[in-house]
Amino acid sequence: MNNARVAVGFESLGVAEAAWRAARAYAAQRHSMGKTIDQHEMIADMLAGMQTDIQAIRALGIQAAWHEELNQKLRLALAHLDVPAEERQRMERDQAFHARRSRHLTPLLKWYSSERAVDIARQSVQIHGGAGYIKETGVEKLLRDAMVFPIYEGTSQIQALMVMKDNLMAAVRDPQRFLRATAQARWKSLSARDPLERQVAGLRLVAQQSVRFLLTRLAASKLADLRHHKAGDWSKLMRAWDPKRDFALAMLHAEHLTSVLTDAAVAEILWEQTRADTGRTQILVRWLERARPRSRYMHDLITTTGPRLLASLASGASHQGTP
Ligand SMILES: Cc1cc2nc3c(=O)[nH]c(=O)nc-3n(C[C@H](O)[C@H](O)[C@H](O)COP(=O)(O)OP(=O)(O)OC[C@H]3O[C@@H](n4cnc5c(N)ncnc54)[C@H](O)[C@@H]3O)c2cc1C
Repeated sequence: MNNARVAVGFESLGVAEAAWRAARAYAAQRHSMGKTIDQHEMIADMLAGMQTDIQAIRALGIQAAWHEELNQKLRLALAHLDVPAEERQRMERDQAFHARRSRHLTPLLKWYSSERAVDIARQSVQIHGGAGYIKETGVEKLLRDAMVFPIYEGTSQIQALMVMKDNLMAAVRDPQRFLRATAQARWKSLSARDPLERQVAGLRLVAQQSVRFLLTRLAASKLADLRHHKAGDWSKLMRAWDPKRDFALAMLHAEHLTSVLTDAAVAEILWEQTRADTGRTQILVRWLERARPRSRYMHDLITTTGPRLLASLASGASHQGTP
Protein backbone atom coordinates (compact mmCIF):
# COMPACT_ATOMS: atom_id res chain seq x y z
CA MET A 1 0.00 0.00 0.00
CA ASN A 2 2.89 2.40 0.68
CA ASN A 3 3.81 2.32 -3.03
CA ALA A 4 0.26 3.10 -4.09
CA ARG A 5 0.00 5.96 -1.60
CA VAL A 6 3.20 7.53 -2.90
CA ALA A 7 1.96 7.14 -6.48
CA VAL A 8 -1.36 8.89 -5.71
CA GLY A 9 0.61 11.59 -3.86
CA PHE A 10 2.50 12.42 -7.05
CA GLU A 11 -0.60 12.12 -9.25
CA SER A 12 -2.29 14.63 -6.94
CA LEU A 13 0.75 16.86 -7.10
CA GLY A 14 0.65 16.86 -10.92
CA VAL A 15 -3.03 17.77 -11.14
CA ALA A 16 -2.71 20.40 -8.38
CA GLU A 17 0.28 21.99 -10.11
CA ALA A 18 -1.52 22.04 -13.50
CA ALA A 19 -4.60 23.62 -11.86
CA TRP A 20 -2.50 26.26 -10.10
CA ARG A 21 -0.51 27.12 -13.23
CA ALA A 22 -3.71 27.50 -15.29
CA ALA A 23 -5.26 29.70 -12.58
CA ARG A 24 -2.13 31.85 -12.25
CA ALA A 25 -1.87 32.41 -16.03
CA TYR A 26 -5.58 33.19 -16.37
CA ALA A 27 -5.61 35.55 -13.36
CA ALA A 28 -2.63 37.47 -14.76
CA GLN A 29 -4.51 38.41 -17.95
CA ARG A 30 -8.16 38.66 -16.86
CA HIS A 31 -9.19 42.22 -15.96
CA SER A 32 -11.85 43.26 -13.46
CA MET A 33 -12.45 46.60 -11.71
CA GLY A 34 -9.41 48.28 -13.21
CA LYS A 35 -6.77 45.62 -12.67
CA THR A 36 -5.93 42.01 -13.43
CA ILE A 37 -7.69 39.66 -11.01
CA ASP A 38 -4.43 38.33 -9.57
CA GLN A 39 -4.08 41.80 -7.99
CA HIS A 40 -7.36 41.40 -6.08
CA GLU A 41 -6.65 40.40 -2.49
CA MET A 42 -8.85 37.32 -2.30
CA ILE A 43 -7.56 35.86 -5.58
CA ALA A 44 -3.94 36.62 -4.60
CA ASP A 45 -4.52 34.83 -1.29
CA MET A 46 -6.05 31.79 -3.05
CA LEU A 47 -3.10 31.58 -5.46
CA ALA A 48 -0.58 31.90 -2.62
CA GLY A 49 -2.34 29.16 -0.61
CA MET A 50 -2.38 26.85 -3.63
CA GLN A 51 1.34 27.41 -4.23
CA THR A 52 2.23 26.84 -0.56
CA ASP A 53 0.30 23.59 -0.42
CA ILE A 54 1.83 22.34 -3.68
CA GLN A 55 5.30 22.97 -2.24
CA ALA A 56 4.26 21.15 0.93
CA ILE A 57 2.91 18.15 -1.00
CA ARG A 58 6.15 17.98 -3.01
CA ALA A 59 8.32 18.11 0.14
CA LEU A 60 6.21 15.45 1.89
CA GLY A 61 6.10 13.32 -1.28
CA ILE A 62 9.87 13.32 -1.75
CA GLN A 63 10.44 12.32 1.89
CA ALA A 64 7.84 9.55 1.77
CA ALA A 65 9.19 8.22 -1.55
CA TRP A 66 12.77 8.31 -0.26
CA HIS A 67 11.96 6.29 2.86
CA GLU A 68 9.86 3.79 0.91
CA GLU A 69 12.57 3.39 -1.74
CA LEU A 70 15.28 2.71 0.85
CA ASN A 71 12.97 0.39 2.78
CA GLN A 72 12.40 -1.72 -0.33
CA LYS A 73 16.02 -1.61 -1.56
CA LEU A 74 17.37 -2.65 1.85
CA ARG A 75 14.81 -5.43 2.17
CA LEU A 76 15.90 -6.77 -1.24
CA ALA A 77 19.57 -6.47 -0.35
CA LEU A 78 19.03 -8.30 2.95
CA ALA A 79 17.17 -11.09 1.17
CA HIS A 80 19.67 -11.60 -1.65
CA LEU A 81 23.12 -10.32 -0.67
CA ASP A 82 25.69 -12.15 1.38
CA VAL A 83 26.93 -9.48 3.82
CA PRO A 84 29.05 -9.76 7.00
CA ALA A 85 27.05 -10.05 10.26
CA GLU A 86 27.93 -6.56 11.51
CA GLU A 87 26.97 -4.95 8.22
CA ARG A 88 23.75 -7.01 8.13
CA GLN A 89 22.78 -5.71 11.60
CA ARG A 90 23.31 -2.13 10.47
CA MET A 91 21.25 -2.74 7.32
CA GLU A 92 18.45 -4.32 9.36
CA ARG A 93 18.37 -1.30 11.69
CA ASP A 94 18.30 1.08 8.71
CA GLN A 95 15.57 -0.92 6.98
CA ALA A 96 13.39 -0.90 10.11
CA PHE A 97 13.88 2.88 10.42
CA HIS A 98 12.93 3.57 6.80
CA ALA A 99 9.94 1.18 7.00
CA ARG A 100 8.69 3.02 10.11
CA ARG A 101 9.09 6.45 8.51
CA SER A 102 7.41 5.31 5.29
CA ARG A 103 4.50 3.83 7.23
CA HIS A 104 4.16 7.14 9.11
CA LEU A 105 4.44 9.50 6.13
CA THR A 106 2.68 7.70 3.27
CA PRO A 107 -0.89 7.83 4.67
CA LEU A 108 -0.33 11.50 5.54
CA LEU A 109 0.81 12.11 1.94
CA LYS A 110 -2.10 10.18 0.42
CA TRP A 111 -4.65 11.95 2.62
CA TYR A 112 -3.25 15.46 2.34
CA SER A 113 -2.26 15.52 -1.33
CA SER A 114 -5.52 14.02 -2.58
CA GLU A 115 -7.74 16.26 -0.45
CA ARG A 116 -5.78 19.37 -1.43
CA ALA A 117 -5.70 18.41 -5.14
CA VAL A 118 -9.52 18.53 -5.10
CA ASP A 119 -9.55 21.90 -3.26
CA ILE A 120 -6.89 23.37 -5.56
CA ALA A 121 -8.64 22.19 -8.73
CA ARG A 122 -11.91 23.66 -7.44
CA GLN A 123 -10.20 26.96 -6.65
CA SER A 124 -8.76 26.97 -10.15
CA VAL A 125 -12.30 26.61 -11.57
CA GLN A 126 -13.38 29.46 -9.26
CA ILE A 127 -10.56 31.74 -10.42
CA HIS A 128 -11.53 31.04 -14.04
CA GLY A 129 -15.12 32.06 -13.22
CA GLY A 130 -17.69 31.00 -15.82
CA ALA A 131 -14.90 30.03 -18.23
CA GLY A 132 -13.75 27.44 -15.67
CA TYR A 133 -17.14 25.77 -15.52
CA ILE A 134 -17.34 25.04 -19.24
CA LYS A 135 -15.22 22.41 -21.00
CA GLU A 136 -13.15 24.70 -23.26
CA THR A 137 -10.57 25.84 -20.68
CA GLY A 138 -9.92 22.27 -19.43
CA VAL A 139 -9.83 23.13 -15.73
CA GLU A 140 -13.15 21.42 -15.00
CA LYS A 141 -11.49 18.21 -16.23
CA LEU A 142 -8.71 18.70 -13.70
CA LEU A 143 -11.37 18.88 -10.99
CA ARG A 144 -13.05 15.69 -12.28
CA ASP A 145 -9.64 13.97 -12.41
CA ALA A 146 -8.80 15.12 -8.88
CA MET A 147 -12.06 13.81 -7.44
CA VAL A 148 -10.89 10.21 -7.66
CA PHE A 149 -7.69 10.71 -5.63
CA PRO A 150 -9.39 10.74 -2.21
CA ILE A 151 -11.34 7.61 -3.24
CA TYR A 152 -9.05 5.01 -4.79
CA GLU A 153 -6.08 3.21 -3.22
CA GLY A 154 -7.75 3.63 0.18
CA THR A 155 -10.23 6.46 0.74
CA SER A 156 -9.27 9.50 2.81
CA GLN A 157 -11.28 8.15 5.73
CA ILE A 158 -9.45 4.82 5.61
CA GLN A 159 -6.06 6.64 5.54
CA ALA A 160 -7.17 8.69 8.53
CA LEU A 161 -8.30 5.62 10.50
CA MET A 162 -4.90 4.07 9.92
CA VAL A 163 -3.05 7.23 10.96
CA MET A 164 -5.17 7.44 14.12
CA LYS A 165 -4.66 3.79 15.01
CA ASP A 166 -0.88 3.85 14.38
CA ASN A 167 -0.34 7.01 16.41
CA LEU A 168 -2.52 6.00 19.35
CA MET A 169 -1.08 2.49 19.48
CA ALA A 170 2.50 3.80 19.29
CA ALA A 171 1.81 5.96 22.37
CA VAL A 172 0.19 3.03 24.21
CA ARG A 173 3.05 0.65 23.34
CA ASP A 174 5.79 3.06 24.42
CA PRO A 175 4.39 5.74 26.77
CA GLN A 176 7.87 6.83 27.90
CA ARG A 177 8.88 7.65 24.36
CA PHE A 178 5.59 9.47 23.78
CA LEU A 179 5.98 11.56 26.96
CA ARG A 180 9.61 12.31 26.13
CA ALA A 181 8.64 13.54 22.64
CA THR A 182 5.90 15.72 24.17
CA ALA A 183 8.30 17.21 26.73
CA GLN A 184 10.88 17.86 23.99
CA ALA A 185 8.30 19.56 21.78
CA ARG A 186 7.13 21.73 24.69
CA TRP A 187 10.66 22.69 25.66
CA LYS A 188 11.66 23.53 22.07
CA SER A 189 8.44 25.47 21.48
CA LEU A 190 9.39 27.72 24.39
CA SER A 191 13.15 27.91 24.31
CA ALA A 192 14.57 27.17 20.84
CA ARG A 193 16.71 30.08 19.72
CA ASP A 194 15.22 30.38 16.24
CA PRO A 195 11.60 31.62 16.28
CA LEU A 196 10.80 29.40 13.28
CA GLU A 197 12.04 26.34 15.17
CA ARG A 198 9.83 27.36 18.11
CA GLN A 199 6.81 27.47 15.79
CA VAL A 200 7.67 24.11 14.22
CA ALA A 201 7.94 22.57 17.71
CA GLY A 202 4.65 24.26 18.63
CA LEU A 203 2.92 22.35 15.83
CA ARG A 204 4.43 19.07 17.06
CA LEU A 205 3.23 19.91 20.57
CA VAL A 206 -0.35 20.43 19.32
CA ALA A 207 -0.14 17.03 17.57
CA GLN A 208 1.14 15.32 20.73
CA GLN A 209 -1.57 16.99 22.81
CA SER A 210 -4.27 15.87 20.37
CA VAL A 211 -3.07 12.25 20.60
CA ARG A 212 -2.90 12.50 24.40
CA PHE A 213 -6.40 13.96 24.62
CA LEU A 214 -7.89 11.11 22.59
CA LEU A 215 -6.01 8.49 24.63
CA THR A 216 -7.14 10.06 27.91
CA ARG A 217 -10.75 10.08 26.75
CA LEU A 218 -10.53 6.47 25.61
CA ALA A 219 -9.16 5.41 29.00
CA ALA A 220 -11.71 7.53 30.89
CA SER A 221 -14.69 6.07 29.05
CA LYS A 222 -13.35 2.55 29.61
CA LEU A 223 -12.89 3.24 33.32
CA ALA A 224 -16.37 4.76 33.59
CA ASP A 225 -17.74 1.56 32.06
CA LEU A 226 -16.21 -0.49 34.85
CA ARG A 227 -18.63 1.01 37.37
CA HIS A 228 -21.38 -1.08 35.83
CA HIS A 229 -19.49 -4.35 36.31
CA LYS A 230 -18.31 -6.46 39.23
CA ALA A 231 -14.74 -5.72 40.37
CA GLY A 232 -13.81 -9.31 39.59
CA ASP A 233 -14.51 -8.68 35.89
CA TRP A 234 -12.48 -5.45 35.63
CA SER A 235 -9.21 -6.91 34.52
CA LYS A 236 -10.93 -8.94 31.79
CA LEU A 237 -12.90 -5.86 30.66
CA MET A 238 -9.81 -3.63 30.55
CA ARG A 239 -8.14 -6.10 28.21
CA ALA A 240 -11.20 -6.54 25.98
CA TRP A 241 -11.57 -3.49 23.76
CA ASP A 242 -14.55 -3.11 21.51
CA PRO A 243 -13.12 -0.95 18.68
CA LYS A 244 -16.58 0.18 17.55
CA ARG A 245 -17.56 1.59 20.94
CA ASP A 246 -14.30 2.31 22.77
CA PHE A 247 -12.61 4.06 19.83
CA ALA A 248 -15.67 6.00 18.69
CA LEU A 249 -14.32 9.45 19.64
CA ALA A 250 -10.93 8.73 18.04
CA MET A 251 -12.63 7.43 14.89
CA LEU A 252 -14.82 10.52 14.73
CA HIS A 253 -11.76 12.78 14.91
CA ALA A 254 -9.43 10.65 12.76
CA GLU A 255 -9.30 13.17 9.89
CA HIS A 256 -8.84 16.11 12.27
CA LEU A 257 -5.95 14.27 13.91
CA THR A 258 -4.48 13.44 10.48
CA SER A 259 -4.59 17.13 9.61
CA VAL A 260 -2.75 18.12 12.78
CA LEU A 261 -0.12 15.40 12.26
CA THR A 262 0.37 16.43 8.61
CA ASP A 263 0.84 20.08 9.59
CA ALA A 264 3.55 19.06 12.07
CA ALA A 265 5.26 16.56 9.73
CA VAL A 266 5.45 19.03 6.82
CA ALA A 267 6.74 21.80 9.12
CA GLU A 268 9.53 19.51 10.36
CA ILE A 269 10.54 18.54 6.81
CA LEU A 270 10.57 22.18 5.69
CA TRP A 271 12.54 23.17 8.81
CA GLU A 272 15.23 20.59 7.97
CA GLN A 273 15.32 21.93 4.40
CA THR A 274 15.61 25.49 5.69
CA ARG A 275 18.58 24.52 7.86
CA ALA A 276 20.31 23.01 4.82
CA ASP A 277 19.40 25.86 2.46
CA THR A 278 18.20 29.25 3.69
CA GLY A 279 16.64 29.81 0.25
CA ARG A 280 13.82 27.54 1.48
CA THR A 281 12.98 29.74 4.49
CA GLN A 282 10.09 31.58 2.84
CA ILE A 283 8.38 28.27 2.03
CA LEU A 284 8.46 27.34 5.72
CA VAL A 285 7.27 30.82 6.76
CA ARG A 286 4.28 30.59 4.40
CA TRP A 287 3.49 27.05 5.58
CA LEU A 288 3.57 28.05 9.25
CA GLU A 289 1.34 31.05 8.59
CA ARG A 290 -1.43 28.74 7.35
CA ALA A 291 -0.71 25.57 9.33
CA ARG A 292 -0.65 27.12 12.83
CA PRO A 293 -4.22 28.48 12.91
CA ARG A 294 -5.47 25.36 11.10
CA SER A 295 -3.84 23.08 13.67
CA ARG A 296 -5.29 25.06 16.58
CA TYR A 297 -8.73 24.84 14.98
CA MET A 298 -8.44 21.07 14.44
CA HIS A 299 -7.22 20.61 18.02
CA ASP A 300 -10.24 22.61 19.21
CA LEU A 301 -12.57 20.37 17.22
CA ILE A 302 -10.96 17.27 18.73
CA THR A 303 -11.18 18.54 22.30
CA THR A 304 -14.58 20.25 22.25
CA THR A 305 -16.85 18.37 19.85
CA GLY A 306 -18.13 14.83 19.43
CA PRO A 307 -20.02 13.61 22.51
CA ARG A 308 -23.41 14.85 21.25
CA LEU A 309 -23.07 13.14 17.86
CA LEU A 310 -21.70 9.94 19.43
CA ALA A 311 -24.53 9.80 21.97
CA SER A 312 -26.99 10.22 19.16
CA LEU A 313 -25.32 7.46 17.10
CA ALA A 314 -25.32 5.17 20.14
CA SER A 315 -29.05 5.71 20.64
CA GLY A 316 -29.72 4.91 16.99
CA ALA A 317 -31.10 8.41 16.32
CA SER A 318 -29.18 8.63 13.03
CA HIS A 319 -31.62 6.19 11.48
CA GLN A 320 -34.39 8.72 11.96
CA GLY A 321 -32.55 11.75 10.60
CA THR A 322 -29.46 13.90 11.12
CA PRO A 323 -27.71 12.97 14.39
C1 LIG B 1 -11.37 5.17 -11.27
C2 LIG B 1 -11.29 4.09 -10.24
C3 LIG B 1 -10.34 3.11 -10.36
C4 LIG B 1 -10.25 2.07 -9.44
N1 LIG B 1 -9.30 1.10 -9.60
C5 LIG B 1 -9.28 0.06 -8.77
C6 LIG B 1 -8.33 -1.01 -8.97
O1 LIG B 1 -7.53 -0.97 -9.90
N2 LIG B 1 -8.34 -2.05 -8.09
C7 LIG B 1 -9.23 -2.11 -7.06
O2 LIG B 1 -9.21 -3.08 -6.30
N3 LIG B 1 -10.12 -1.12 -6.84
C8 LIG B 1 -10.18 -0.05 -7.68
N4 LIG B 1 -11.10 0.97 -7.46
C9 LIG B 1 -12.02 0.84 -6.35
C10 LIG B 1 -11.65 1.75 -5.20
O3 LIG B 1 -10.52 1.27 -4.54
C11 LIG B 1 -12.87 1.83 -4.26
O4 LIG B 1 -13.86 2.60 -4.92
C12 LIG B 1 -12.51 2.49 -2.93
O5 LIG B 1 -11.68 1.63 -2.17
C13 LIG B 1 -13.75 2.79 -2.10
O6 LIG B 1 -14.54 1.66 -1.95
P1 LIG B 1 -16.10 1.74 -2.29
O7 LIG B 1 -16.26 2.39 -3.62
O8 LIG B 1 -16.67 0.39 -2.10
O9 LIG B 1 -16.68 2.74 -1.21
P2 LIG B 1 -17.13 2.38 0.26
O10 LIG B 1 -16.13 1.47 0.91
O11 LIG B 1 -18.56 1.99 0.24
O12 LIG B 1 -16.98 3.83 0.94
C14 LIG B 1 -17.95 4.86 0.74
C15 LIG B 1 -17.58 6.01 1.68
O13 LIG B 1 -17.67 5.55 3.04
C16 LIG B 1 -16.44 5.80 3.69
N5 LIG B 1 -16.17 4.75 4.68
C17 LIG B 1 -16.18 3.43 4.49
N6 LIG B 1 -15.84 2.80 5.64
C18 LIG B 1 -15.64 3.75 6.58
C19 LIG B 1 -15.26 3.77 7.96
N7 LIG B 1 -15.00 2.64 8.62
N8 LIG B 1 -15.13 4.95 8.59
C20 LIG B 1 -15.37 6.09 7.94
N9 LIG B 1 -15.72 6.16 6.64
C21 LIG B 1 -15.84 5.00 5.97
C22 LIG B 1 -15.40 5.80 2.60
O14 LIG B 1 -14.24 6.51 3.02
C23 LIG B 1 -16.15 6.51 1.49
O15 LIG B 1 -16.12 7.90 1.71
C24 LIG B 1 -11.17 2.02 -8.37
C25 LIG B 1 -12.11 3.04 -8.20
C26 LIG B 1 -12.18 4.05 -9.13
C27 LIG B 1 -13.22 5.14 -8.94
